Amino acid sequence: MKEYMKKIKTKRFGIILFVLVAVAVTIFFSSYAIFGELEGQLEQNLEDVATQNALALHNKIHSNHELIVSLSDNMHGVEQGEDIEERLQSLEIFLDEYNLKRFAYAFPDGTSYATDGGVANLSYREFFKRGMEGKGSITGILHDALDESHGLVNVMTIPVYDDSGEVEGVFGLTYDSQSFNEALQIECFDGQGYSCAINSDGEIMIAMGSDILQMSENLFTDLLAPDERNEEAIARLQKQMEGKTSGGGTFFLSEKNYYHCVPVNLMDDDVTWYMITIAPADVLESRVAPIQHRLYTMAFVVVLLTLMGVAFVIVISRQQKAMMLRYAYEDPLTKGANYARFRIDMSKKRNPRGYLVSMDITHFNNINIVAGKMAGDDMIGKIWQILNEELQSEELACHIQEDVFSMFLKTENRELLIERLKQISGRINMQAKTLQVKGIHSRYGLYEMDKNEDLEDAYSKAQIAREQARSQREQYYVFYDEMDHERLQQNQQLEERFEDSLADEDFEVWYQPKYSVETGEVVGSEALVRWRDTDGSLISPGVFIPLFEQNGMIVKLDEYVFRTVCRQQVKWLADGQKTYPVSINLSRASLYCNDIVERYRRIIQEYQLDTGLIQLEITETAMEGSASIREFLKQFRNMGIRILMDDFGTGYSSLSTLNMQCFDTLKLDKSLIDYIGDKNGEILLYYVINMGQKLGLHITAEGVENSMQLDFLKENHCDDIQGFFFAKPMPPAEFENILTNS
Ligand code: C2E
Ligand code: MG
Ligand code: MG
Repeated sequence: MKEYMKKIKTKRFGIILFVLVAVAVTIFFSSYAIFGELEGQLEQNLEDVATQNALALHNKIHSNHELIVSLSDNMHGVEQGEDIEERLQSLEIFLDEYNLKRFAYAFPDGTSYATDGGVANLSYREFFKRGMEGKGSITGILHDALDESHGLVNVMTIPVYDDSGEVEGVFGLTYDSQSFNEALQIECFDGQGYSCAINSDGEIMIAMGSDILQMSENLFTDLLAPDERNEEAIARLQKQMEGKTSGGGTFFLSEKNYYHCVPVNLMDDDVTWYMITIAPADVLESRVAPIQHRLYTMAFVVVLLTLMGVAFVIVISRQQKAMMLRYAYEDPLTKGANYARFRIDMSKKRNPRGYLVSMDITHFNNINIVAGKMAGDDMIGKIWQILNEELQSEELACHIQEDVFSMFLKTENRELLIERLKQISGRINMQAKTLQVKGIHSRYGLYEMDKNEDLEDAYSKAQIAREQARSQREQYYVFYDEMDHERLQQNQQLEERFEDSLADEDFEVWYQPKYSVETGEVVGSEALVRWRDTDGSLISPGVFIPLFEQNGMIVKLDEYVFRTVCRQQVKWLADGQKTYPVSINLSRASLYCNDIVERYRRIIQEYQLDTGLIQLEITETAMEGSASIREFLKQFRNMGIRILMDDFGTGYSSLSTLNMQCFDTLKLDKSLIDYIGDKNGEILLYYVINMGQKLGLHITAEGVENSMQLDFLKENHCDDIQGFFFAKPMPPAEFENILTNS
């Protein structure tokens, strides 16, 4: 059992561990997968935004480039002085529309004129030099040289050619850096993301939506290079820029950032900038966090449900275990030990020396009949309580079934043991009396146990001894080692042969005539059963009736005799014999069958016999404690069957039984008749006969063996005589002679 429970516990622990690990692994991989998925999404978003920004930048620059290309036609052959001023003036109308600061024109010597009136020599500017070389430019952020405020500007320039194809000047437009920047703002990632455009040197040309990036700073040298972790990112970006390819990755601007870089070709591919869109890793985390949060909540719920499930299983299995133990070891009536428990407790005893007691209760059925089944069950509980109160240390008891209990008592002295058992019996008797049921006491079969004895063997021996105790009236206990074992064996054989003998009609019904005291004539007979043995000899009812009363076989035998008598009477009637009433013995066990009246009624009906020819003999003890037996007797009497009280004078004869108004005849037992000759005995007999007659009973004397007895009975007005003095029980054929001659 312990091993089994250990296995179950390990299994449970295993399940919990498995679920926890499974949940943890699921969360880990789910988080990982979700993170990967979102990271991919972010990168895709970055690429989209970067591409969009690149396109916007390209479009803006492209449209402005086209503008100056078309306007540059106005500058052909322009001359310094009024001419240039006038020509520039005519262009002013485009400034607002294109959100430009100015147009300007530089002559080959570098002298530059602007639409807002500024004149300066810009020969030192890179864009001028490139222009003179025939190349277009768009600059990074510069300090304005044509304006005293020296604000930040970006400049786009193209060369202007004369008719011969020589560069005759440089024409361009100037943006205010701020408004140039703003025109390109595209919000991304709820304002958390930002973009910039860098030129091929890494200078930031446009910085969109960020405080981190300052225009004119260099992305590589100013921002990325100071952090060692960016080495790889710088190399990757520069490689990208060399090949003018787009791509993304991560770099650190104090924090980890994702970026995507897209090359943007400007000015008819003369200039290449790079649009870089950046999103801090926080963006990703803020996207992952709610999902992770949900995942953790789910995991928590799963773990909680699992733990609750396991707890539930534990509680249920504990309850089941307790129930199992209860079913296995608890007696349902007493809630105390059953035989299984008793057996285990006995096996734990190192030195089981003592007496094994098998106990039952006399006439326990009477409690059920008189006080009801509930009171009977209650009584079992009370008996259990009494036993427990009487037990001493190291002693045990259990309830076996119905009214049977078992005990293990350590008292070694037999006399003391008997005293203790008597005490228990007395207490049980008192308890039963509170239910108005008399004659209840306990009977014991006792077996002295040896150290190494098998409990089953010992218990069956105690049981055999108890069976013996049931068949004796005087003593309520039997020690197994004091039993007549030969008789026990014989009894067992008789029991085994019973059914076959019944079927083979080995039971014979003999008749003992009864005579009228007054006339000396036959008035009836008693049917007495005999068992014809295989060797032809007869077995006396004294041998098998008590045995069959114990084991209940008597019920069948009684019915068999009853049927045989009915059949015999019908036969005699048919043969034209003179017939007299035959009394048939009915045992107590037969009277405890609820259908007894109905069964016997059917037999009588079957033979269509006059009920006046049948009588029933019932002993006084059969009446003990049962109200329903009286009811049965009433029903028999109502059918016209006379009831005789048999064996009056044996055991606890009581005149009060006579007053029950269930009987028609009182049969005085041989033991009373044997008093004749003894003065006191005769007085007793006189009173009994007198009292019986006063109660309106017919008196039959049984076991009359001599004329002295006959004379006394005659004198005292006894009605009938049954005894060897007149005739012994005889087979039917012999009895027929008596009938014929009567
Ligand atoms: P019982 O019903 O009291 O029957 C009378 C017994 O006394 C019979 O013994 C009978 O042979 C015996 N008896 C009659 N007159 C004398 C006499 O003058 N002297 C002596 N010594 N004995 C006499 P039996 O036939 O051996 O039966 C013994 C008991 O067995 C019966 O006592 C009855 O209780 C029982 N019994 C017999 N047949 C049946 C039966 O069919 N059913 C039941 N339930 N019990 C039966
Ligand atoms: Mg009798
Ligand atoms: Mg009798």
